[in-house]
Amino acid sequence: MKKVVIIGAGASGMMAAIAAAENGAEVLVLEKNDRAGKKIRITGKGRCNVTSAKALEEHIKSFAHNGKFMYTPLNRLTPEETYRFFEEAGVPLKVERGDRVFPQSDNAQDIVDALVKRMAKKNVQVKFNKAVKTILRSQEGKLLGVMCDDGELIMADSVIIATGGASYPGTGSSGDGYKFAKSVGHKIVDIRPALVPLVVKESDISQLQGLSLRNVKLSVYDKKGKLLVSQFGELLFTHFGLSGPVVLTASGILSDYWQKNKEELMGDIDLKPALSREKLDERLLREIKELPKRSYKNLLGALMPQLLIAPFINRSGIPYNKLSNQLTKEDREVIIDLLKGYWFTLTGTRPLAEGIVTAGGVNVKEVSPKTMESKICPNLYIVGELLDVDAVTGGFNLQAAFSTGYLAGLSAAQKENIE
Ligand SMILES: Cc1cc2nc3c(=O)[nH]c(=O)nc-3n(C[C@H](O)[C@H](O)[C@H](O)COP(=O)(O)OP(=O)(O)OC[C@H]3O[C@@H](n4cnc5c(N)ncnc54)[C@H](O)[C@@H]3O)c2cc1C
Repeated sequence: MKKVVIIGAGASGMMAAIAAAENGAEVLVLEKNDRAGKKIRITGKGRCNVTSAKALEEHIKSFAHNGKFMYTPLNRLTPEETYRFFEEAGVPLKVERGDRVFPQSDNAQDIVDALVKRMAKKNVQVKFNKAVKTILRSQEGKLLGVMCDDGELIMADSVIIATGGASYPGTGSSGDGYKFAKSVGHKIVDIRPALVPLVVKESDISQLQGLSLRNVKLSVYDKKGKLLVSQFGELLFTHFGLSGPVVLTASGILSDYWQKNKEELMGDIDLKPALSREKLDERLLREIKELPKRSYKNLLGALMPQLLIAPFINRSGIPYNKLSNQLTKEDREVIIDLLKGYWFTLTGTRPLAEGIVTAGGVNVKEVSPKTMESKICPNLYIVGELLDVDAVTGGFNLQAAFSTGYLAGLSAAQKENIE
């Protein structure tokens, strides 16, 4: 029996363990936490967007980096197969807006439990509170196994590194895998946060903390005014800046940009993307005609959420108590400018620890997409978020972890040339 050691009982590690055990290997999973799947439990705000019901081509397109590398892994464990896997494991699923797949129970713990149960059924041994310290190799570079923090040496025919990225380190993914991969000679593409909130310079943004805006358009430009990214959807103000789906989606491109250029960027929110400037002016004139003695402040109440009114008035420079019928054409222009482009300066992203995923990681050119085996160190496999692969939100990142994990487990168990 081949002995496969897996470092990490997260999404990719547990799926790797199941695939390896199903294919006849003796499997040992080493997890530094006291339980499995700590990160899975907080995914999708505790509901776990476990995969996507979109077609495979759409999965590939959802990757910000190295989507092509994902062709084979996603074909070996497809999103449909993942869906079936969880339903057969007793977790009924449902498809929500945007083809996002969740457990019907809306409970991420059910996904963890299903993986843990399946591992137990396949006689996978899991050791908790067991952190791996180094990968063991012979002087000739042959993979031997791993050494744990407590000094224990564990020999193996194959080792699968499934330690995740470096985001949300409290869940266990504190970046150990980069160190392991580097130690055997892998190159690490600079790691940086993706799907991460953005920091705004203007202090008045903090007045908007907690405000959520739907159906708005976020645009970000460089200093020369070149559009870098534009996203339509829902946005959330926080005490330091911006978050929410459109921001997280846009953040990958901006994070990459800031990796190379340290400059501040200009952004704006189109609060009324469905209305042209002309239509907005017609709307304002209509409001003014209907209630001519209404104050400017109360007029704004008809156009935006309460929380936005005070900072909007400050920015517009128009006195709050000016009557609607005293608003001049220039005033209306100022209002429309702000409605179509509520501006701010972006200074950067929040830290890597706050990214939903880590972009960058083990260079995929050094890993075989057919097996997930390292091209540098035979019998070593690298999977999940540790790779330089990251996708937008929608269940694609977990699917990537499941697919790469599955393929590695299968390949490690089936590999024939172990001496
Ligand atoms: C808040 C949040 C919400 C998210 N929501 C979604 C979502 O809804 N849908 C989606 O697709 N993706 C989501 N993601 C991303 C997704 O969770 C990750 O991409 C995925 O979990 C990566 O899987 P992984 O197996 O590579 O790593 P992880 O799941 O992070 O697992 C790595 C495991 O390795 C262990 N480990 C690390 N180092 C060692 C060591 N030295 N020794 C032993 N064990 C070690 C860790 O403790 C951990 O258990 C979310 C992420 C976050 C942070």
